[in-house]
Amino acid sequence: MRIVLVGPPGAGKGTQAAFLAKNLAIPHISTGDLFRANISQQTELGKLAKSYMDKGELVPDEVTIAMAKDRMEQPDAENGFLLDGFPRNVSQAEALDEMLNTEGMKLDAVLDLEVPEDEVVKRIAGRRICRNDSAHVFHVSYKAPKQEGVCDVCGGELYQRDDDSEETVRTRLEVYHTQTEPIIDYYMAQGLVVTIPALGKVEEVTARSMEALAREDA
Ligand code: AMP
Repeated sequence: MRIVLVGPPGAGKGTQAAFLAKNLAIPHISTGDLFRANISQQTELGKLAKSYMDKGELVPDEVTIAMAKDRMEQPDAENGFLLDGFPRNVSQAEALDEMLNTEGMKLDAVLDLEVPEDEVVKRIAGRRICRNDSAHVFHVSYKAPKQEGVCDVCGGELYQRDDDSEETVRTRLEVYHTQTEPIIDYYMAQGLVVTIPALGKVEEVTARSMEALAREDA
C-alpha cells in the first residue's frame, strides 16, 4: 500500500507511522527524520534544512522533493511506503502524483490524524525523543520514562527537538494551517482522505487506522 499520513505537529504521526509501517510491512518514510539524519551527519543538505527547521518553516520544495523521491526509489519501497511529513504543501502533493503516475502507481489512502489544537501544544511542549530511534517517543507527564532522560526501550539519551520550543511550535502550527491543510482538500477531491480521531491511547489510534485502511483496501 502507498499511504500518506497528515496531521498537525504533535498529532502523533511519527508514533503511528512506526506502528502502521510495521503492521503493513512497508517502510516508514519521514522527511523530518531524513533531514535530521542529514543534520547529524553535517551534510550540505543538513545545513540548509536546519536553517529552515530551526525557525519552524518548510525546507524549500526543490530539495525536499528530490530527497523524498530518492528515498521512495529505494528497493525496500517497491511495494509500498508510508509517508510521514511529506507532502506538506500542494506543490509537493502534485510532484508526488506526477512521480507515481510516471511509474503507473497511485496512492491508496491519506490518513488525516485529527487532534484539538490545545492538546497539540501540550503534547509537543513535553515531548522527548530518543537519539537512537525517533519512534521511541516519551512525554514528561503523559508517558514519562522510568528514568529521566533515558529511553525505556533501548537506553538511548532522550532529548527535546530544537524545533519543539514554544515559539517555533507556533510557527509550525501556522505553517500547517496555511500550507499543509490545503492538501487535505486536494486529496479529498481524489476520494483518498480518511479522518482518524487521534485522541486516546496510541494502540487505539493504530487500531482505528488499521480498520480504516482495511476498508479502503476492500
Ligand atoms: P517533522 O519531523 O515532520 O515534524 O518535520 C520537522 C521539520 O522538517 C519541519 O518543521 C520542516 O522544517 C522540515 N520538513 C519536514 N518535512 C518537510 C517537507 N515535506 N517539506 C518541507 N519541510 C519539511
